Amino acid sequence: MLPTKAYAALSATSPIAPFSFERRDPGPTDVLIKISHCGVCHTDIHMSRDEWGGSLYPMVPGHEIIGTVVSVGSEVTKVKAGDRAGVGCFIDSCRTCPSCEAGLENYCDHGFTGTYNSMTRDGKSLNFGGYSEQIVTDERFVLKVSEKLDPAAAAPLLCAGITTWSPLRHWKVGPGQNVGIVGLGGLGHMGIKFARSLGAHVTCFTTSKSKVADAQRLGAHEVVLSSDAEAVSKLTHRFDFILDTVSANHDLNTYLGLLKREGTLCLVGVPPEAAAVHAFGLVMGRKHLAGSLVGGLPETQEMLDYCAEHGIVSDVEVIPAASINEAYERMLRSDVKYRFVIDMATL
Ligand code: NAP
Ligand code: ZN
Ligand code: ZN
Repeated sequence: MLPTKAYAALSATSPIAPFSFERRDPGPTDVLIKISHCGVCHTDIHMSRDEWGGSLYPMVPGHEIIGTVVSVGSEVTKVKAGDRAGVGCFIDSCRTCPSCEAGLENYCDHGFTGTYNSMTRDGKSLNFGGYSEQIVTDERFVLKVSEKLDPAAAAPLLCAGITTWSPLRHWKVGPGQNVGIVGLGGLGHMGIKFARSLGAHVTCFTTSKSKVADAQRLGAHEVVLSSDAEAVSKLTHRFDFILDTVSANHDLNTYLGLLKREGTLCLVGVPPEAAAVHAFGLVMGRKHLAGSLVGGLPETQEMLDYCAEHGIVSDVEVIPAASINEAYERMLRSDVKYRFVIDMATL
């Protein structure tokens, strides 16, 4: 067993604090990764505070993991010692259902195994995430990360990156389309970068005046304060696709009204409470309300390779592990530009 330093939540109300546990010894298909950086996703807050229910403690959050391969099992072919590697939101799945066979392990019919806040598939032990010095993961669930990318800035690609890339690709966002990105946090800023890179005309909706100039710098052609009802209503019937990344309750009907006929409002943000959607917002214009969850392994690798080719990474604020609780509080105040990333050398 491998003694491992980490940060964990011991209950829904306790702060994230130093913790230690043991990783399993790597098996023949396992990869041992020394974690250099781990991004801080809003999901880490929802889960460590049990905002969605069913949280398991002690919980070591973190699913935007980047590091260096230390050693590999005898059957591993994907990576070798010394390679840069990443681990995202899940570390196992049934591997045989139609979704897994299609490379959409994120939609495994039997449920994927989350990188943290989950039990191993034999039900015997808890999985611990990336706020830790090392991780042991089956090679199938390990991603290759180019040395061209800065590791701290690349870490958020493993969740914020793929969560925005996957729906933009699935709904074939590209030139000639008007795309809206709602919420400018970790997911939102990657949504802007990708939608712009894919050739769409991008409009960002934000509640934060202080982020308007940044939204333009990140690639938005237009930025609208969501509190400005007049500016919002001018955009009625404008959008082919709107990606909603907001982490707290807000009105979806407004955004349905901004879609063109047959346009899609895709939710990736998961506020703790259910939203109220009026049927008129959908029937008038045959509109689609959709959702999307991270992405499968092949599309995650495709996104990482695209980022290496196009020089796309996150805008990050690197923090020591001891600042994690303060980072959570700042994210809750929307004071994030645009992803906190923990430097694991500070553990
Ligand atoms: P984040 O960095 O905290 O950003 C969320 C942004 O939402 C804020 O910065 C803010 O942007 C906006 N916002 C916050 N409260 C709001 C409110 N009351 N009304 C309107 N806008 C508000 O969070 P994140 O890490 O990007 O995650 C966002 C959500 O996606 C979370 O619910 C998370 O759990 C979920 N998530 C889902 C998936 C998936 O696979 N579907 C994957 C990862 C995360 P402005 O300042 O611009 O308004
Ligand atoms: Zn996440
Ligand atoms: Zn499956």
